Amino acid sequence: MKLVTYSVDGASRLGMVSGDGIVDVSSHVRGAPTDMIELISHWTEWGPKLQAAASRPADLALAAAKLQAPVRAPRKVFAIGLNYADHCRESGLEIPKDQVWFSKAVTSVNGPFDPIELPAASSHLDHECEMVTVIGKRCRNVPRERAKEVVFGYCVGNDVSVRDWQLRTTQWVIGKSFDTHAPIGPWITTADGVADPHTLGIRCLVNGEERQKSNTKHLVFDVYAQIEYLSKAVTLEPGDLIFTGTCGGVGVAYKPPRWLKEGDAVRVEIDALGAIENRVEKGPSAVHIE
Ligand code: ZN
Repeated sequence: MKLVTYSVDGASRLGMVSGDGIVDVSSHVRGAPTDMIELISHWTEWGPKLQAAASRPADLALAAAKLQAPVRAPRKVFAIGLNYADHCRESGLEIPKDQVWFSKAVTSVNGPFDPIELPAASSHLDHECEMVTVIGKRCRNVPRERAKEVVFGYCVGNDVSVRDWQLRTTQWVIGKSFDTHAPIGPWITTADGVADPHTLGIRCLVNGEERQKSNTKHLVFDVYAQIEYLSKAVTLEPGDLIFTGTCGGVGVAYKPPRWLKEGDAVRVEIDALGAIENRVEKGPSAVHIE
C-alpha cells in the first residue's frame, strides 16, 4: 500500500494511492486516524480496514493533490554518513568500521515537491539522494533478524546538506538541519509492498542531468543492521525516519564543487518507491520572531 499525506483547503488528510488517484482515508474508513504517526502506531487495527477500502474508485487525481511529507512531524530523524563505498572514496575517507550517525532537526522535514532553501548564510548547498526507512513500532534492542518486524515502510528522501556548515566542525548536525532540507515522499510504500529494500536503483538528477546513480544493494550497513545498531541506544518510535545514506556523485566531490543554485530542480528517484522533486529557492534572511 502507498500512503500519502495531502492537503485540501489547508487541511491535512491521509490517503491511499490507487493508480493515478488518491482514495481518501477518512471518507471511507470511519474513525480512522487523521495523522500518519497515529495511523502507523495503530496499524494492526487500521491496516486491514484501509486495505479493504484501497480498491475503491479514487476521490481525486494524484496530480490535483498537494502532497505533503508523509510524516510531517516525526519525533526523530536519524541519518547515516559514509554508507556507500563510492561516496566514501569520493570523500577521501575509508569505509567506516562503525556506523556514523547524525540527526537532522525534525523542523527540516519538507514536502516531496516543495521548495528547498538556498540559505542566506551559505552558498554551499548540496544534494544526497537516499532511501528513507519509516519505523513502525516502538522498539529497543532489536536484533538484525527481527528488524523487519519494526519497519513500517520506505520512502524517497534528499538529505540536503550545507557543506561549509557541515564540515567546518566535527559535528554535522547543524549543516544537515537547515529548514526544508529533509524533503521526503512522495508517499510511504508499506514494507509488504517492497520485496527487498536492498535491490532498488536510486538516482539524483539536477535539472534533468543525472548526478548520482547507484543501487541500495551497495549500502555498507543495510537497513536491518542500522536498526539493530540504533535500537541498542535509543527507543525507536512509530514514524521515526532513518535516512540510509547516499551514494557517490554529490556536488562537493566535484573539482570545483557543483553547488545547487537558485532555480535548480533536484529530483530523487528510487525504483518502486517513486520520485520527489524540489526547486531551490532563496531562503529568508529577515528577522522572524513570533
Ligand atoms: Zn546523507
